[in-house]
Amino acid sequence: MTGFDTIAIVDWSAGKRAPVRPSKDAIWIGVVRSGEEQKPVYCRSRIEAEAWLTDLIEAEAQAARRVLIGFDFPFGYPRGFVRHVIGSDDPLQFWDWLEARITDTEAGENNRFDVASEINRMFDGPGPFWGKPTEDGWPDVPYRKAGISYDICAERRACDLAAKASSSCFQLFFNPTVGSQALMGLPMLARLQRRAGVSVWPFQDWSEAQTVLTEIWPGLIEPAVKEVQSDEIRDAAQVRLLARALAGLMPERLNALLKIVGPEARDEAWILGTGHADELIAAARGQVALEPPPLRNDCFALPAGVDWTPVDDALALLRDRMTVVVGVETVPLMQAAGRVLAGDLVAKRSNPPHPNTAVDGYGFAGAGIGAGPQLLPLVEGRAAAGAPFAGSVPEGQAIRVLTGADLPDGVDTVVLDEDVRVGDGQVAFHGPLKHGANTRKAGEDMMQGDRALEAGRVLTPADLALAAAVGHGSLQVRKRLRVAVLSTGDEIVEPGSQASEGQIFDANRPMLLSLCAGFGFNVIDMGRAADDRTAVRAALDAAAAQADVILTSGGASAGDEDHISALLRETGAMQEWRIALKPGRPLALGMWEGVPVFGLPGNPVAALVCTLIFARPAMGVLSGARWYAPQGFTVPAAFEKRKKPGRREFLRARMRDGGAEVFKSEGSGRISGLSWAEGLVELPDGAVHVQPGDPVRYIPFSSFGYDGG
Ligand code: AMP
Ligand code: MG
Repeated sequence: MTGFDTIAIVDWSAGKRAPVRPSKDAIWIGVVRSGEEQKPVYCRSRIEAEAWLTDLIEAEAQAARRVLIGFDFPFGYPRGFVRHVIGSDDPLQFWDWLEARITDTEAGENNRFDVASEINRMFDGPGPFWGKPTEDGWPDVPYRKAGISYDICAERRACDLAAKASSSCFQLFFNPTVGSQALMGLPMLARLQRRAGVSVWPFQDWSEAQTVLTEIWPGLIEPAVKEVQSDEIRDAAQVRLLARALAGLMPERLNALLKIVGPEARDEAWILGTGHADELIAAARGQVALEPPPLRNDCFALPAGVDWTPVDDALALLRDRMTVVVGVETVPLMQAAGRVLAGDLVAKRSNPPHPNTAVDGYGFAGAGIGAGPQLLPLVEGRAAAGAPFAGSVPEGQAIRVLTGADLPDGVDTVVLDEDVRVGDGQVAFHGPLKHGANTRKAGEDMMQGDRALEAGRVLTPADLALAAAVGHGSLQVRKRLRVAVLSTGDEIVEPGSQASEGQIFDANRPMLLSLCAGFGFNVIDMGRAADDRTAVRAALDAAAAQADVILTSGGASAGDEDHISALLRETGAMQEWRIALKPGRPLALGMWEGVPVFGLPGNPVAALVCTLIFARPAMGVLSGARWYAPQGFTVPAAFEKRKKPGRREFLRARMRDGGAEVFKSEGSGRISGLSWAEGLVELPDGAVHVQPGDPVRYIPFSSFGYDGG
């Protein structure tokens, strides 16, 4: 499971019952549900908050929504502490231990200093817990930290250090009272955690859990919190923005962040997002992180022991491993067609912004109109688009209105020009008329605050119309993906040059360059490299310095002259993808200087098919777009073909007279067949015997986002 439908962020408190009037240092909960920010919830006591959270967990599970709940206190203690207290390192066991001891009331009266005293007595010397309201009382809890030696365990956890949090889970009094919050929070977590479907990150397997409890720390997004320019209570702003930040990340990114924990996390817990504050801050600001993290070096690794990977498995793997690699820029709306939208686009204004008339006619209050002939006096003036009527229209009177005009005060219904007679300052027509007839309601298309367009969308002309209508003049889009194209082979010479015997013209480069330009990418022509290790290495270096992805053709197999695969293998980040696909030779997928390389077969037919089937969707994700599955259509075959099981097959095809024809020869060097074709027929992995008229799947080239017809 990836993604959460609901994010709730809890700012916990160890204090007494808070006042009725929302105030700081109480418990605040920020919630984003299905992308919509809710008003932060204010809880006066821990008992009230726990009840609210229990209801939330129940209600979201009922609605089949997956929830992540973040709490701003440590889920664990520095390694060694828990073992010293309970004889085991298991943090969840310690939660139970605490739960059995901590008491709390609606008024917030609790025994945390007594429990801290009990723990401190287990340690020689003063501490580890310190800090209390007055110097006298609780003799086992020192008033100050001075003199406490943290030798059995450290004062801070690895994640506190990594997140640069100055607080310690042993500090019970004076801000920050993190230690008290944990003592008063962990017993509650112990109870929540026992509910069905609830898992605790990172102690338990959370990947399939309905509800995941995580530790968070608002300090990570402090710069964004500081920017809130209002009288909003700081704690409320913190939870609201952190909920927004986590909800605003792409599901894969949040999933990736959940996978990033230090080796101490199993014992000590971890703060979600540590080391990735910039990304969270950008998301809290409602922006997209300007520079995404690079792909991992092992992103193309295939499962071991599989000889020929089925096409669907290979695609699933790419879909899982590829992430956006390009940053964000703002472009004028007018220039945004074909670009990839970087973040969700929220309507700044409703469409239509005001109720208006859908036709030319006469407007009035619909309530007073019954059946039969109607005669209404006309008020002076009219309402036109862009020229609203300033006054109001009294009940029982009508006014001239023109299409697109805001409805004047007193008008909610319009009768069409064609249905009226006008004379003597009056308008006559027949009732009844539906209340609201011929008008458009404010926001009937889109309400302010609605999500107008989803992140990852490749913007169409109609998207630009929508973005404009809801108030945007510029858009945050992904920078264009830069794709370098390189041909390899001693036999390959420049098109149009003198070719001697044994030489052939470079057919792949013009094809791949124009193909990628057609996908909306910036293409970089890297020319040709001879079958020579040094030359290929230099070409890859140059490509990696300028591009976000490299496409090469030729030299991708395992032969003596297959330098692409040999070089990628040297880097340790190369995978030979043997895919059960015809036409196709092994693909060499790897990373060169942090840049993904798609080593395509040299054969032009295989090069095109492998680009369309694999590189195209992968590059789509790298460019920030959502995964792209080309739309195929089931059509009758206009050919006969027998096919053995074991490999998926793509035939060069085109539609004529309602049927799919295929090219007469399947020879994979037949470039003329590529040029003849307007799409591909996809035959399944198993054996088939296609007869004319049988249904087959036809994928027009335009479905891949390029017009090959
Ligand atoms: P290779 O993958 O290098 O073994 O090449 C497979 C076949 O594709 C050979 O017949 C090559 O001559 C041919 N080939 C490789 N690169 C190109 C190219 N850029 N244009 C046309 N044919 C090529
Ligand atoms: Mg070659």
